[in-house]
Amino acid sequence: MNNDPQTAFRDELVRSGLLISMGVDGLFGRSGVFESIVEAVDHYITGIGGGDGAEVMRFPPAISKQVFEESEYLKSFPQLAGTVHSFMGNDRDHQALLSALDRKEDWTTGQKATQIVLTPAACYPVYPTVAKRGPLPAKGALVDVLSYCFRHEPSLEPTRMQLFRMREYIRLGSPEQVQEFRELWIQRGQTMIKEFGLPAAIDVANDPFFGRPGKMLAVNQRDQALKFELLIPVVNPEQPVACLSFNYHKDKFAQNWQLKQESDEFAHTGCVGFGLERITLSLLKHHGLNPAEWPSDVRAKLWP
Ligand code: ATP
Ligand code: ZN
Repeated sequence: MNNDPQTAFRDELVRSGLLISMGVDGLFGRSGVFESIVEAVDHYITGIGGGDGAEVMRFPPAISKQVFEESEYLKSFPQLAGTVHSFMGNDRDHQALLSALDRKEDWTTGQKATQIVLTPAACYPVYPTVAKRGPLPAKGALVDVLSYCFRHEPSLEPTRMQLFRMREYIRLGSPEQVQEFRELWIQRGQTMIKEFGLPAAIDVANDPFFGRPGKMLAVNQRDQALKFELLIPVVNPEQPVACLSFNYHKDKFAQNWQLKQESDEFAHTGCVGFGLERITLSLLKHHGLNPAEWPSDVRAKLWP
């Protein structure tokens, strides 16, 4: 038994069968009950955002190496990225691989990078896709995505997984359109969490940008209020967890992927991201591990 409250909560989730241990920190299977909550949260989000006319896109949890490079993710978070490697050798290389395996040595050294990188944030495939269509119309664009995302951040905290789902709305257009979108979702997000019977606070975010240049990026993010988070105290009241994120990229992504407005200026973009596992875990922690026993008003919102 571990006394750390994070680990204790994880053990409780695994013991109850809600999460299925897979032998790696932050990698879990999910039970039917867990998935029914994720689905209900996802439907609730569609219930609030579905009337805005977003274009639905669903991508597998991977992007091309080229799009990954263009996103400049490696500048900010090299430590979180997950690239897919494969065996590309001949018979001799295969023998070497098998004997390394037999000797319990590292058999991965001969693996080569494929053209595929695991998606770090659900919205990444959207920008190059929309940019390929040419300049945006005057009303801009609005896209709805949902994807598993990978981040190499193994952790004992159940709210910090290596593979988790992000539901997002992405707004592409003028600075005004994007800022209005973000304001609207900050309001909607707070209402949603209140209806789920959960405590929450909004704050500017502090992302773990890597290395020395990362310090500058972090200061810039804070000073320009580029990202807000809706934080919920899940296990530790002193360390609330970001369950929703509200991002304003200015024209950074538009420059990376040459996405223009009708006026030929670079577009601005922003996104709201819902961490579906984190919201689910917040509900389980605050209302108990059996959703059938949750407060009836919360159940009515999730399963109308
Ligand atoms: P944190 O600061 O806690 O690492 P983040 O700021 O990196 O989170 P975003 O990049 O904004 O998170 O991702 C969007 C949403 O995805 C977050 O609001 C959160 O709900 C969810 N999320 C991010 N990282 C994880 C993770 N490791 N496990 C589960 N959910 C996550
Ligand atoms: Zn996003």
